[in-house]
Amino acid sequence: MDYSVFKTDHWNNNLSPKERRIALRELEREMARSQKRKARKIVFKFMDKNKCGYYEDGKKLPRKFLYINKYFLTSDEPDRNYILMNTVIHEGRHAYQDDVLKGKVSRDTLDDEKVKLWKMNSIIRNDAKGNFTKYRFQPREDDAYNFAYDVMEGLRYLLDDVYRCYMDGQKAQREYWEFDAKNYYGDSPDLNYKQIIEKKLARKYYDFILKKKLNRIKYRKVQGI
Ligand SMILES: [Zn+2]
Repeated sequence: MDYSVFKTDHWNNNLSPKERRIALRELEREMARSQKRKARKIVFKFMDKNKCGYYEDGKKLPRKFLYINKYFLTSDEPDRNYILMNTVIHEGRHAYQDDVLKGKVSRDTLDDEKVKLWKMNSIIRNDAKGNFTKYRFQPREDDAYNFAYDVMEGLRYLLDDVYRCYMDGQKAQREYWEFDAKNYYGDSPDLNYKQIIEKKLARKYYDFILKKKLNRIKYRKVQGI
């Protein structure tokens, strides 16, 4: 797609909110093409200002959408265009993770270990309302943050100064988060903070599976089978 549609001057002066929505939907289609997955519908709705969006993977819904905070379509943050771009790419990556787990798309270069962590993380989750470090570094979030950052970083010289400033801010934020995670989880040459997170997740996951199995056995006894 022609990414220059996101350039700040153009975004602010030439595009109506409706045209901005169209550009973001085109971005999702572009990402879906590159990940060989089905594009998701984007729903724009008002959310809390500190929330950019989310991916709906509720089991009850027959269709799964990307939800983007409508507030940023007309808010006055100088980098609102790039906040929106980043969010669409991030939430779309969650859609890709879902498709990988369901076997709807090929794993390509993903290793089995990574897919296994996503699977465990789909059951054992840390929600965004709790501790941010725990939320940010769980495997599916970590992957979505890293993926969006890498895609955005790849466009650094295609866009404008506001973009580069936004990306410099993102870089600084990433360094800060990593520092925070190392402090929170601990980090050593033998066991780095990511390995500690993965171990904790695996322990919780296998506890969960074991409890489920035990419950089934109890149920069978009650039923006299
Ligand atoms: Zn996410």
